[in-house]
Amino acid sequence: MIIYGSRMYFKDRVVKSFAECDHCGRYGRMTSYQAKKFGHIYFIPLIPLGEKSQVLRECGSCSMGVHIPVSRLDPVVQSVEERFKSWIVEVQQGNTEVELSDAEVKSNVGMLIAGILDDLYCLKLIENVDSISAILMAQGMDYENEIVQATWMEIRGTLDQGRARLEAAAKLRPDERYPRFQMGRLEVLRGNPKGAEEAFLQYLKAYPDDFSAHIELATLYERANNFAKIVESYDKLYSMKPELIPNAGMQKLYKKACKKSGIGGKFLAQMK
Ligand SMILES: [Zn+2]
Repeated sequence: MIIYGSRMYFKDRVVKSFAECDHCGRYGRMTSYQAKKFGHIYFIPLIPLGEKSQVLRECGSCSMGVHIPVSRLDPVVQSVEERFKSWIVEVQQGNTEVELSDAEVKSNVGMLIAGILDDLYCLKLIENVDSISAILMAQGMDYENEIVQATWMEIRGTLDQGRARLEAAAKLRPDERYPRFQMGRLEVLRGNPKGAEEAFLQYLKAYPDDFSAHIELATLYERANNFAKIVESYDKLYSMKPELIPNAGMQKLYKKACKKSGIGGKFLAQMK
């Protein structure tokens, strides 16, 4: 039997990181690189298939990642670089809140930089966050620094340290939602559903109407097959957003959870 197929060959600009996979949902090791796809026979690359691509965050579990042909990479890199540079300028000018052209509310500059960190690192535009941290600290932006460091720890796969950074951020600014929500998220990534539940319940005490946190809780209960809690959390989701009621997938789970738990969900009567 001849062994043949296709795979990526001649990898360079390899970056290892950790992230939550967009496809399989697992948090784990990711590889970013540039390479070219070849048809192979006995793993000898013989037939070039298409041009060289930048692969971003190829998942160690499911092997899925984002593929961008190198010929179309420049505008992507440029956009990441431009945003990053403009936010660093804001920091240097002492602005913690930045107005984005497409948003009505201002965003915290630490959150903005944290949001772009993964792309900066995987595209090899930064090696680490040392200089970003130094610039933030020089402006007395300790909170922003903790936020950036927490995300960096997530990229490095050191979630315990990430959690500690978020706690520090929450201590610096007890009224900020972001670090407290992220604490719950990090517990999910750490594979600690109990801790995640506690974190989100705690968060919801302060922000009872945060839909995203209710979604996180419902997801946790679904994973644990905690039917009574599924009913409770879905009742909350339905009451917040009645437009979800007709959704067939949710209905199926909701009905099953009602049946299994013996609890009559508040919205059961509205379903056929
Ligand atoms: Zn995956």
